[in-house]
Amino acid sequence: MEKRLEFLQDNIRNTLLSKDGYNLSIWCPFCKHSNKRKLKLAIHLEKCLYHCWLCDKKGSNVPYLLSKISKSLGEASKSLFKSKVKNNDFNININALLNNDFTLIDDNVVENKIEIPEGFRLLANAFNSKNPDIRDVFKYTVKRGINKHKMWLLKLGYSTNSEYNRCLIIPSLDKFGKINYYTARKIDVDTNCGYKYKNANVPKKNIIFNELNIDWNIPLTLVEGPLDLLKTNDNATCLLGSSLTEDMRLFQEIVKNKTVVNLALDEDAYYKATNIAKLLSDYDITVNILDTRGSEDVGDMTREYFNSILEKAKQFNKEDVLLNKIKQL
Ligand SMILES: [Zn+2]
Repeated sequence: MEKRLEFLQDNIRNTLLSKDGYNLSIWCPFCKHSNKRKLKLAIHLEKCLYHCWLCDKKGSNVPYLLSKISKSLGEASKSLFKSKVKNNDFNININALLNNDFTLIDDNVVENKIEIPEGFRLLANAFNSKNPDIRDVFKYTVKRGINKHKMWLLKLGYSTNSEYNRCLIIPSLDKFGKINYYTARKIDVDTNCGYKYKNANVPKKNIIFNELNIDWNIPLTLVEGPLDLLKTNDNATCLLGSSLTEDMRLFQEIVKNKTVVNLALDEDAYYKATNIAKLLSDYDITVNILDTRGSEDVGDMTREYFNSILEKAKQFNKEDVLLNKIKQL
């Protein structure tokens, strides 16, 4: 193990050893981050397995991995790295290994169990309800421009339970169709009801809002909050905030799938959008930025207006940003 460590540290410019001394992180030659100091691929020095937590590339052939960095390095490492893991054991072993040894991936394994708000019912089935509260939620939704298709797609709902009465509930389903988040929006904004939103109380880092609806192979629209999703095209999800960072599952899925991103943050977060675009383009992701400057928040737009700025979206280009900065000097 020490020989392997020494070999890697001698031959690879940037490395990072885990506290327990078993995992050495290096720059990943598969996802090829433009910044060579991004060390997202870990090599298990004892078991001779590797895994990149960003692009999910994994394997037991470390010399092959190293040959991707340089051919001679691959050759030189052949005798040193022989995985003890048999090929057919590989999946089981690597899973056990990932859960135990890779702290970065540990975060992703933790599941947060949440329950759908008590009394939740689908709004699409309530168009002829005689209950005035339900009728008002329905009217509120229609006033925001929602049609039946969107109502079903987003599985919009309501509950007559006192906690959620007169709220529009937007649930989020994970890729298996299990609820992983929800937001409840009070429809009476002007009354002093204490809060405008009530959100599921779970950490957001690993949540991909409505992953069930996402097709990673076509451009994906990103907005800030669930209410914005009422206005977008169908292949869309929200950040549950206004930032997107490398440690978020949403970020990792986009990179893994090389999904083209249409970024539609509200005007006041425009500079954040540029930062997100910069980060994604570091990973060779194409980002189109929707120009929300001088217009209302995405959630308040009409769907037609949203479509018009979607059509006019401009592809983000790092050089443009640089040029603008130079011009301003
Ligand atoms: Zn990678």
